[in-house]
Amino acid sequence: MNIQHNISLRPLHTLHLDVAARFFYRWENADKLDELLAHAQEYERVIWLGSGSNTIFLKDITDGLIVQIATNGIQVIDEDEYVRIRVSAGNNWHQFVQYTLSQSWFGLENLSLIPGTVGAAPVQNIGAYGVEVKDYIVSVSGVNTLTQERFVMSNDECQFSYRNSIFKQLPHLLITKVEFRLSKQFNPHIDYGDIARIAQTIADSEKLNANHISQAVIQIRQSKLPDPDKIGNVGSFFHNPIVPADYAKQLLQKYPNLPHYPQSDGKVKIAAAWLIEQAGLKGKKCGAMAVHQQQALVLINTGKAIAQDVIDLKNLIQSTVLERFGIELISEPRFIT
Ligand SMILES: Cc1cc2nc3c(=O)[nH]c(=O)nc-3n(C[C@H](O)[C@H](O)[C@H](O)COP(=O)(O)OP(=O)(O)OC[C@H]3O[C@@H](n4cnc5c(N)ncnc54)[C@H](O)[C@@H]3O)c2cc1C
Repeated sequence: MNIQHNISLRPLHTLHLDVAARFFYRWENADKLDELLAHAQEYERVIWLGSGSNTIFLKDITDGLIVQIATNGIQVIDEDEYVRIRVSAGNNWHQFVQYTLSQSWFGLENLSLIPGTVGAAPVQNIGAYGVEVKDYIVSVSGVNTLTQERFVMSNDECQFSYRNSIFKQLPHLLITKVEFRLSKQFNPHIDYGDIARIAQTIADSEKLNANHISQAVIQIRQSKLPDPDKIGNVGSFFHNPIVPADYAKQLLQKYPNLPHYPQSDGKVKIAAAWLIEQAGLKGKKCGAMAVHQQQALVLINTGKAIAQDVIDLKNLIQSTVLERFGIELISEPRFIT
């Protein structure tokens, strides 16, 4: 096994903290899985990594093997008015979405430009602009790294919910492939925010198609979110909290402008960005970490942030929002300590 030693983790996670890994392996060849699992037994722990866009390394990792999942491939399984495709975990998510559009397979266009890999997409049931990936997943295949048993889980068994799934709860389940079912008929999802207007402007006098939606999403994302290649960040740092209807009503009496989204179970989702902004924290800095000026849900590394800066800013936001609104914000990324 070509294990690399003492490499910088800075380029391998999008917050770009200056930490290092003692042992690192980039896993490209799917056929080497058994060899990799056998070798992994020699380490105290194994940390499975995609593109590191939802992961924060808080210190040098000296006790475990970091495996970057980089297996590639897209296989068509079945085709009629829908197409079923099996996709390897290491495929880049955005490139995969663009590939589906080039084939006129529809459904994932609203999820354009989300950083990361295909294998990580089910882990937190990625979502954006009114669409969640769970609606297009048939099954997820992988291996239980504790027992080495292979599994294929149906969509129901994956227990998808808002930014959550069984894989977030059980990190020893390694995803190797994801099976998607995409439509050959375009069915636009344009009820969310400005998508309809921007996509229509891009389409001009042409009939609206999925590429217009994808371009609109890309344009909106690029205008609102800092590019992690230029400014370190992990996208949304906190989940949007979901509160009981009674509590939402109390908040709305006090703050009539509070952005809120009723859920199918009667609870109400609240915009975490609004809470942070109203708490006066936009632009707030702890060391070299800051709350982004354009999007309060995004925390940025202004250059030389260290782990303590991340923790201090996270704690400050959580305690201020709790004190002001009585709501506990839950952080979204995985912290590796
Ligand atoms: C600028 C920016 C914007 C973002 N916007 C969005 C958004 O709109 N919506 C959204 O939902 N998310 C968003 N995110 C978060 C992130 O893009 C997603 O969570 C993405 O799926 C992470 O992919 P990754 O490969 O980088 O995962 P990593 O950070 O490498 O890993 C994340 C977690 O998944 C696990 N994991 C990764 N691969 C596998 C695998 N094959 N098997 C089992 N576990 C695995 C890891 O162990 C870890 O726990 C954004 C992030 C950034 C930086």
